[in-house]
Formats: sequence, C-alpha cells, structure tokens
Amino acid sequence: MSFNLSERLQQLPPYLFVEIDKAKRKAREEGRDIIDLGIGDPDQPTPQFVIEALVKAAHEPANHRYALDQGMPSLRQAIARWYHRKFDVILDSDKEILPLIGSKEGIAHFPLAFLNKGDVSLVPDPCYPPYKGGTILAGGLVQLMPLLEKNNFLPDFTNIPKNKLKKAKILYLNYPNNPTASVCDLSFYKEAVSFAKKHNLIIVSDLAYSEITYDGYHAPSIFNVAGAKDLAIEFHSLSKTYNMTGWRVAWACGNSQLVQGLAKVKSNIDSGIFSAIQVAATAALEADDKFINGLCNMYRARRDCLIKGLEELGWKPQVPKATFYVWVKVPKKKSSIEFAKLLLDKADVVVTPGVGFGPSGEGFIRFALTQAPERIQEAVARLKKVV
Ligand SMILES: *Cc1c(COP(=O)(O)O)cnc(C)c1O
Repeated sequence: MSFNLSERLQQLPPYLFVEIDKAKRKAREEGRDIIDLGIGDPDQPTPQFVIEALVKAAHEPANHRYALDQGMPSLRQAIARWYHRKFDVILDSDKEILPLIGSKEGIAHFPLAFLNKGDVSLVPDPCYPPYKGGTILAGGLVQLMPLLEKNNFLPDFTNIPKNKLKKAKILYLNYPNNPTASVCDLSFYKEAVSFAKKHNLIIVSDLAYSEITYDGYHAPSIFNVAGAKDLAIEFHSLSKTYNMTGWRVAWACGNSQLVQGLAKVKSNIDSGIFSAIQVAATAALEADDKFINGLCNMYRARRDCLIKGLEELGWKPQVPKATFYVWVKVPKKKSSIEFAKLLLDKADVVVTPGVGFGPSGEGFIRFALTQAPERIQEAVARLKKVV
C-alpha cells in the first residue's frame, strides 16, 4: 500500500536545515570537534531546587493520575503572581491562565480554535516556525510580514496587502525576537493593539525570552497596553527562563475567550501536564530572581565574548539587548546556507542560516550563545582562519 500525506501536511513549508543537519551528523561521525552554535537549547542544567521539587512530587501517588486539563490551581495562581511581579499585570487564575505542555504545543494548537478555512494569519518573517505550521494545519493561510533591519526588525503594518488584511484573523508578535534578537518597546505594542482593534485581529504574543535581557532593558508584556486584554493572548515558557526545555511546561494567558478556546482544543487532544512537573514549575516561579539574574549574567558574558570576536573579524554585529542569539549579516556574497555550510566544512562551527526562518532571513546567520565562553572563543579563532 502507499499513502498520500494530507493536503495540509503537504502544504507545510519545507524543512531547510536538511543539508546542514546531514553535514553536521557526518562531521560528528568522522570524529571532528564540532562547536554547535546552531541550536536554541540551553546547555546549562535546570536549577537544583526545581529538580528536588520534581523528585519529591514524583513520589506522591496523587500525582500519578491524570492531571486536570486546565492545570493545577496552585500552578495557575503561581503564574498569576509571577505575572504581577514581573509585569504588574493582573490575571484571573481561573479564567485567564492555561498551563501548556510547552509553548510550542499551545502556539501550534491555538489556530485550531479560531481559524476557519481560508482565514489568514499575519506572521513575522523570519520567525519561529510553529506560527506558520499551526496556521496551515488549521486550514489557514500565512501572510508574511517582513522584519527588516531598517525597521529595527519590527513589522510594518502599513505594508500588508489590503485583500489579505481583510481575511486576517491572527497577528503573531514575538519580542524579544527569535531569530533576530531584536526587542520592542511599549509604543510598538500600543501601535499593534490599535491596529488589531481596527482590523478585528487576535494578537498572539510569544514572550518566551522576556527574562533573558541585558544592559537594563526590560521586556514589556502586551498587557502593559490598556485594552490589550480585549484581543490578545500571550505565551510564556519555563523552557528558556529556567533551563527546562526538556520538561515541557509553559502557559498561555490573557483574554478569557481566547484562553478558553485553546483549552477546548486541548481537552480533545491531551490530558494535562504530569502533576509532578506542575509542582516543580510552581517552585521555579515562586523562587526569587537569583537564578534568572545569574542566567542573564552568564549569557551576557558569552554575548560580549562573541561580539568582541566578530568585531575583530571586521564584522559589524548588532549587540542584542535580549535573547541568547546574535543575528549577523553574512559578510560575503554568499547565501546564508552556503555560508553556514562553509563555516561547518572549514571551521567545524555550526550556525543557523537565516533563510531557514523565512525568506527575509536570507543574508543573515544566527549564532546561539549556548556554549561556554571558551568554546565561543575557540569558534571565533577558527572563523578567523576561514573568512
Ligand atoms: C524556545 C522558544 C519557545 C519555547 O518553546 P517551548 O515549546 O516552550 O519549549 C517559544 N517561542 C520561541 C520563539 C522560542 O524560541
């Protein structure tokens, strides 16, 4: 028998990292010493106190059963307190907060709750891939909004084609941004909220990197804009903030209809997050900021190390105010894939070609600061020999 993939699956954008992945695997098999600055996955462990909370909770038989779909009340209350402490935003822990099995899960499922066939999502380009994937799997259409350097990598709402805007239902925003490492201020969110109000759009704000910031910058929440809760849902994750990518725990919050719509989709698909993980996540959110401050100091040192090295190469990298990425213009007349391939073949250094995040990412590569400074220094020393 042979099987045809559904039209929806066939419509998903092609995976552009195939060649780089293959070359990376081959290099590893050959025993080469690869420095991987490609993946956005923290290299450091989850804090000990969170692990201990998990272990203790895992011994508790009450935690072995199906978890409540909408998350433990104690976790939802901890999220509400965390939001208030971080952003001075008040959330109703019963109606406006929904724990998730990682924010990718929630972001990918969200369009199923609100898109009909042919509805349009406005998606930043380049972007974190699930905004496109979730839209297409829900039968929607993707309209890209280029993030250009001359606009500080913010979308230009005036450039969205009118016919697409008419059919648009969802507007995705992600600041601090992956992959460009750009940030926004409150005035941009104000503009986005009034644009969304005017055109009846839902704002999906992905705030995964709000805590990884430097040099006095603080990332705002969309809910710091008056009226945003009328039309926005925001996603946050413990993945990057507490080095918990493998644990799969995050949440969505904001407008109660939007949150409850996502909850309804999920109640048909999953049966909640392992309760012991919810207990551990609660411990992480209840802790003081010592861990997060240490995390930011660590990434800042790595950032400064990479920036210094790239400047010595004669490149002119932008110094990011947030995230653990550095988004750099390809310094030669090469495509981002060709250049990433060159760095891998000649220097055993892995970076991510920008075009993998969308067509406007062409001409850039992304470095992830997920290696120790010594390794970053070694990577720069190798680059000096080949570029
Ligand atoms: C890493 C990341 C997330 C978090 O994903 P999880 O599924 O919660 O691990 C969300 N958005 C962006 C842009 C990211 O880079």
